[in-house]
Order: sequence, then structure tokens, then C-alpha cells
Amino acid sequence: MSTQELAIGIDLGTTNSAIAVWEGGKAKLIPNPLGLFLTPSVVSVDEEQNILVGEAAKSRLITRPDQTAAAFKRFLGSDKVYRLGRLEFRPEELCSLILRQLKSDAEAYLNRNVTDVVISVPAYFNDHQRKLVAHAAELAELNAVRLINEPTAACLAYSLHETHERKFLVFDLGGGTFDVTVVEHQEGFIEVRASTGDNLLGGEDFTHELIRWVFDSLGDEADESDLIQFAKIASACEAAKCQATSVRQVVLPSPFNRTLTLDKEATEEIWKNLLTRLSRPIRQALNDARLSPDDIDELVFVGGATRLNEVQKMATRLLGRFGKSEIDPDLVVVIGAVTQAACRLRDEAVEEVILTDVSPYTLGISVNRDGNSGVFNPIIERNTVVPASRVERFYTGYDDQEYVSIEVYQGERIWVRENLFIDELELAVPKNRAGREAIDVRFSYDINGLLEVDVTVVSTGESKLKLIDRTAKGLDEEAKQRSIERLAQLKLHPRDAIPNITLMEKLNRLYEEHLSNERHHISQLIFLFNSVLESQDHVKIKKAVEQINRELLAYE
Ligand code: AMP
Repeated sequence: MSTQELAIGIDLGTTNSAIAVWEGGKAKLIPNPLGLFLTPSVVSVDEEQNILVGEAAKSRLITRPDQTAAAFKRFLGSDKVYRLGRLEFRPEELCSLILRQLKSDAEAYLNRNVTDVVISVPAYFNDHQRKLVAHAAELAELNAVRLINEPTAACLAYSLHETHERKFLVFDLGGGTFDVTVVEHQEGFIEVRASTGDNLLGGEDFTHELIRWVFDSLGDEADESDLIQFAKIASACEAAKCQATSVRQVVLPSPFNRTLTLDKEATEEIWKNLLTRLSRPIRQALNDARLSPDDIDELVFVGGATRLNEVQKMATRLLGRFGKSEIDPDLVVVIGAVTQAACRLRDEAVEEVILTDVSPYTLGISVNRDGNSGVFNPIIERNTVVPASRVERFYTGYDDQEYVSIEVYQGERIWVRENLFIDELELAVPKNRAGREAIDVRFSYDINGLLEVDVTVVSTGESKLKLIDRTAKGLDEEAKQRSIERLAQLKLHPRDAIPNITLMEKLNRLYEEHLSNERHHISQLIFLFNSVLESQDHVKIKKAVEQINRELLAYE
């Protein structure tokens, strides 16, 4: 095994995830056991309490929705607990199972241990959510050496070999998040000028609106509390959403067995609110970057949901130009993440690129102002280019004050109680009249998300420094240990069994989704597959898989 450091990038997506390695001066995508570059971010627990990840788990969203979880990345940082059969998981634990699968794919492909990785995160993820991603990596025995914002990664993928100065607007609509980032590229230099978004808006919401519409149309005929029926309708709506036509057909499963048609106007009406919500982050990002739509040279599409005609039309209308999508919008982020990993290791092909980023949230402290306590005083404002260092002077608030307590918060609200508490530090001040002692508070924020808070009493020169690690770790050690122990007990299927398991899960799904003759045909295929699997004869299994796949083409 080689000891040379590997540059590995991971896109941990809401819907799909991917992993890539930097090889021979360029990004190389790593296939999963099915030979595909995208692994659905779906986890399921089977009847033997084994864990299934990816495509096989995705089929079980239909057949075993009560044992399967998807889109959990958007609940990172919430109290949500997923019950899959008899097991319970927190969102970061489910993320770690995806990361574990990607790590195993990379190790099988490279025949080497993989530990250090760059992982992309939505630009709008707050501090706590970022820590949870790093924590999920740790649970998967990976070390997240850097978390890169997804739109920054996308720009890096597009910008690497370009030299002339350009301003990009990265329009990233994934499964669960919407990020808008304004990026400036000059020779060898990529600077994020502004980054904003809506972390509760994504492609899944477009599907949900369709599902709502279908249930409204079906009225009493349908039962939303029937999980299997709901999952089948959801799958029909997802398929209708992905049709690249302006008139969409929702092919309803049994017992409805009919097709609902949505014309262009009806679709736009159903999605009107979602489409309108796309404009606010765009305006805010341009505003924060002090640019107008005319200043933008390129509109870059990232994320599967930017394939929606209606979304592209809206983006084009708002910016007055067509979008770029030469690099697959589902793979552009992982390509950027691995490019960043190569930058860290200073690969020759990327050596010249310097990356700067912005702080996605405002950082500040709690102060008393005009008789109000707990007022948020920003020090490093949202969209400040990092690394950044800012100092502000404050004064004691009452006579004979002995200590000042600096409470650090992150957020955009006027009251600290509505922002996210980060840390605090205390420093003695000489007794004096109110307002006579000055205190300088300096915030230094580096590219890796490390915040240094430096507090100095001006009269004495005494100071105290606190390093706040905003990158990773920092989570309750005991909880982490419990998680590690629980996850270590879970059994995963061996890699070489995954393609067959995936095919069996697909057959089970198709069996559920069909009736009469078709169902009979699928049951025959299930019997055939079962018997060859029992024979353990590899030649027979291979032949049967080819035959079944051929016959299943009729159901795609
Ligand atoms: P991502 O998180 O970037 O993988 O984006 C996934 C989202 O893109 C999901 O909501 C998908 O339904 C959506 N998506 C994928 N392909 C298409 C397509 N062809 N048309 C519309 N939406 C799509």
C-alpha cells in the first residue's frame, strides 16, 4: 500500500452522495458497488437488522417506508429521531452510515485506507450543523480535514482552468436546500463575495406540493395515513416532477390506476410559492455583494432540482441570462470538493488557486443597550470575506464592576436569545465608575472556521484569548462514545452482496407497484432469482441477473 497522501472529496447530499479522488492531476469519480457515481442518501434496516445504504435502501422507501429513512441531512441539528424497525437513529448517525459506505467504496477502488477527506456542506449550515457533519465523519472513521461550502466547491470545479476575471452566481437547488452564492474569479484567485440561501427549500418541496395536489384531487378516495399508499403516490409524483415536459403526467399506482395530467399553467400555479421563494436569496446575495444582476457574468446551476424547466426559467428571468450546466449539476460539488482536497495537498495542477470564503453568519457578542439587556452586537458581519479580523471597543456598564463577561453568539436576530450561543469568556477589570474602563474585543475568523476571541482591558493591557473551534468536534464526548458503540454493533452487508440485494429489493418494489399479469411476471422473476441465489453458483447467478435486468426493462 502506498503511503502518499490521498486527496479525497465527498459530497454528502440530501438526496444523493458521491466521492471522488484526485488522480493524475484531475478529479476521478469513484463508483459504488453498482458501478454508479451517485449513491442515494437513503438508509434502511432489513428484517435481519442489517443496514442497507443507497439504491437498495431507496427501493425500500416504497416497500418498507417504516424501516427506511431519506432526506435526513436537512434535519441535522434538530431533535428528530428516526425509528427504523426496532432501531433508532439521529440524523448525524444516518449521515455517518452513508459516509461509511462511501469510504468503503473508495477503499475498495483504491485498495488503500481512506481517512482524510474534504466534505461539502450547504453554505447556509450553521455552526452546530457543521459540527454534526464532522461528527458524522468521525463516526464513519473519517477525518473531515476541511468542510467546504457546496457553492464554493461548484465554482472551484468550473473555475480551475479559467484565467479571465468573471463573476459567477451559483444557483444551487438540491433536494433540501437552496444556496445562492456570488463568487468572483480572478487569475488564480476565487473569492466568495456573498453567500445566502434558504435551508428549508429544495427539490423535495416541489415533490411535496405535487403530492398535496394529488391527495386533494383524490379526496376521500385516498388515505394519507397509509404509509405504503403514501410512498407509492410520492414516487409517482417524483417521477412526474422529473419529466422534462411542460405538461406532466402523474401515473397513479393501484388501486387508483389512472393518470392525472397537469398542464403548464396548473404546474406553475402549484409551485408558485416555491418559485417566488427563489427570488429573495438572489436579491439578498446580490445586495450583500453590492452587485446588480447585470454585473454577473455567469449563472451556474448546481443540484438536481435545477433541471426543472420552471426553476431554470425563473432563474433566467431574475438574472437576465441563461445558466451553465456543462458539468453534471449532480457531480459538480464533489468535483469541487476533491479539487479543494488537492489544493490542500498542493497538487501541481491546482497549486495556483487560492480560495477565500465568507462567514455565512454574523458573529458577535451580547451587550446592554439603551436599557435593554441581551442585545446582539455584531462584530464580524455575515458575508465578510474570511480570513477576517475585527476589533470593537466596549465599556463597563456599572460602578465598581469587577468582571466583564463576553458571550459569543452567531445569527442575524437583534436579541441574542434568538441567535446561537457559541461560547463565553470572563475577564477581571479594575474597579472604576461605570463607563470608565474600556475593553477591546477582537474577533479573528480563519478559513477553517476557527474563531479566535481576544479580549483586552485597555487601561491595564491585560488580555485573554480563547480559541473557539468552529470546525469539528466540540460535541459531548459521552454522547459521541455512545453513538460509536451503537453504530459498531450494526451489521452491513458485504460489498459483493450489494448488487444482488439491490436487485432483489427492486423486484420487491416492482411487485408492490404492479398488479395482475405484470405482478405474476415479477413474482416469477423473484422465484427464479431466489433459487439461483440459493444455488450459490456464480455463473448461474450472473446469467439470471442479466436475464432479469433484460426483462425488467419493460417496467422502467
Ligand atoms: P441533489 O440534492 O442535488 O441530489 O438534488 C436532488 C433533487 O433534485 C431531488 O429533489 C430530485 O427530485 C431533483 N431532481 C433530480 N433529477 C431531476 C430532474 N431530472 N428534474 C427535476 N428534478 C430533479
